[in-house]
Amino acid sequence: VETPDTIDGIYDLVGIGFGPANLGLAIALEEHNAASDHADALCGLFLERQEKFGWQRGMLIDDARMQVSFLKDLVTLRNPGSDFGFLSYLQDRGRLVDFVNHQNFFPSRVEFHDYFEWAAARSRVPVAYGHEVLQVRPVTDERGVVALEVVCQSVGTEDQVVVAARNVVISAGLEPVVPDGVVTSDRIWHSNELLDRIEKLRAGDVRRFVVVGAGQSAAEVVAHLHRTFDNAEVWSVFTRYGYTPADDSPFVNRIFDPDAVQTYFAASATVKDMLMGYHRNTNYSAVDADLIDELYRRFYQEKVTGRQRLHVLNMSRVLASRDGGEGVSVTIESLRDNSVSELAADIVVYATGYRSVNPEGFLHEILPLCRRNTDGQLCVERDYRLSTLGDVGCGIYLQGSTERTHGLSSSLLSNVAIRADEIVRSIAEVTNTSRRGKSSVRA
Ligand SMILES: Cc1cc2nc3c(=O)[nH]c(=O)nc-3n(C[C@H](O)[C@H](O)[C@H](O)COP(=O)(O)OP(=O)(O)OC[C@H]3O[C@@H](n4cnc5c(N)ncnc54)[C@H](O)[C@@H]3O)c2cc1C
Repeated sequence: VETPDTIDGIYDLVGIGFGPANLGLAIALEEHNAASDHADALCGLFLERQEKFGWQRGMLIDDARMQVSFLKDLVTLRNPGSDFGFLSYLQDRGRLVDFVNHQNFFPSRVEFHDYFEWAAARSRVPVAYGHEVLQVRPVTDERGVVALEVVCQSVGTEDQVVVAARNVVISAGLEPVVPDGVVTSDRIWHSNELLDRIEKLRAGDVRRFVVVGAGQSAAEVVAHLHRTFDNAEVWSVFTRYGYTPADDSPFVNRIFDPDAVQTYFAASATVKDMLMGYHRNTNYSAVDADLIDELYRRFYQEKVTGRQRLHVLNMSRVLASRDGGEGVSVTIESLRDNSVSELAADIVVYATGYRSVNPEGFLHEILPLCRRNTDGQLCVERDYRLSTLGDVGCGIYLQGSTERTHGLSSSLLSNVAIRADEIVRSIAEVTNTSRRGKSSVRA
């Protein structure tokens, strides 16, 4: 961790996590500094627990495509002239013309990962990889909270490092979710581990996979296992009747526009619930229509040939899975007649989704200073800052965990460029007011 180039050794901004959200923020910060007087420049540092940049590495399946236009890259919606855009990346890689001929707005996930890595390597804002943040605690004096200490652990050691910040941006991303009671093992794992896990399997080791879930990840895992292990059965088990298509039609897609954030933020709780109910299927428990067609094509072809490897167990709930060492016994309830049966499998993959990392986990000592609404949830302002009580002269900003207040794009890539700009502007405004000698206390 570098010593900040500031008078008092305090960073203006410390980012927790360095996924696409904070990468976008680092670039916005760099571009803000380039456009500012030296006196208004902000000093930032990012802390990332991975040893190097990585985005959804376990699901970088060869043929998986992005579910967002390449124009919603890290910068373009904020600054189309930025040299951190996807087109600059393509130019740098010598593929710009080839990409145009491709006539596709949705690059492969593998290519977008390469773009993110390229941007992370070019950014000049320091990133301390291999540093896991444990907590953020307040530093107080007679004026109130004057700084935040970000406590992190150097991964693989007992060493703790403490970094002082005026503002912290928590962008810790998503964490995988398995149903209550599931005990993971070498034979039972979450879909986010897919590529690491199957790299260690040999083709003959597995006769039957069970994949639990009916969302995009589940469908991708089913398709990938079915193609890769061409002698194995793949059983897709879910409670729905069939895979449901993701709605990516143009009018609905406007819910991911930058303007939609303000509309959602300003809406009443009732209207927020309505919007979420109408449009959850843009993102949750929904599958790209092309992939549904591809799975059905394979399913039908196997009926034709009589060699059925792809099995779809719809209206079925997995009640339990037990790893007996030699294999897994999966207990399944049919929702048709509530009958319960056992299915023997070699590997069970829970493609049962993700949830946003709860920022409260970092904030124990500060939580008494944070405002809550009548439902007991933390209040988040339009500029993504936690609303704080009393004399708190520091900002705690959230990226990713604001779906409740800022809408469906919160955990996605769609709004990364604009949100980063809003956060940098908010931090710059308070920092510059304070530097010019006015009070920086936020009530
Ligand atoms: C398989 C998959 C595919 C997806 N595809 C798309 C897509 O095509 N389009 C789209 O819009 N969205 C997609 N998403 C949604 C996804 O949330 C975003 O793509 C993106 O990951 C959000 O970026 P982020 O920086 O908020 O979170 P993340 O990418 O999760 O990054 C968070 C980072 O924080 C780090 N971190 C966490 N805790 C700590 C800690 N305590 N200390 C230090 N570092 C920490 C993590 O290691 C990670 O690097 C996809 C999600 C998945 C799971």
